[in-house]
Amino acid sequence: MSAPCLFCGIVSGEIPAEVVYEDDHVLAFRDIQPQAPVHVLIVTRAHVATINDLRAEHEPAMTALLAAAPRIARDQGVADDGYRLVMNCLEKAGQSVFHIHMHLMGGREFQWPPG
Ligand code: 5GP
Ligand code: ZN
Repeated sequence: MSAPCLFCGIVSGEIPAEVVYEDDHVLAFRDIQPQAPVHVLIVTRAHVATINDLRAEHEPAMTALLAAAPRIARDQGVADDGYRLVMNCLEKAGQSVFHIHMHLMGGREFQWPPG
């Protein structure tokens, strides 16, 4: 039976991904269509569709998600030069997979404001 959502499928191991970090709450893997030399997605193991759906019970997972970012940035060699963290909420902001995730991108310069 196929997973109910793409990132749940990656978390369960049903769908392959290049995992770069994992702990009790989150999994991080390389984006399939990288927008920077380093482009990692950090996802919660628990399925939460959008940032709007976050509740108090998700606090440990969100703390772990944010704490994972600098560790991954260091592992990927972009911590000292700088990197960008992005979370898109709903279609208008660019969300295309409805399982919350943080983009960690580095290895090039970024513009501000974003498009
Ligand atoms: P969003 O647009 O929701 O903020 O980000 C979704 C991200 O998931 C996109 O950057 C897209 O390239 C990535 N993505 C979509 N399908 C897959 C997949 O099957 N494997 C991996 N590793 N990344 C995916
Ligand atoms: Zn999911």
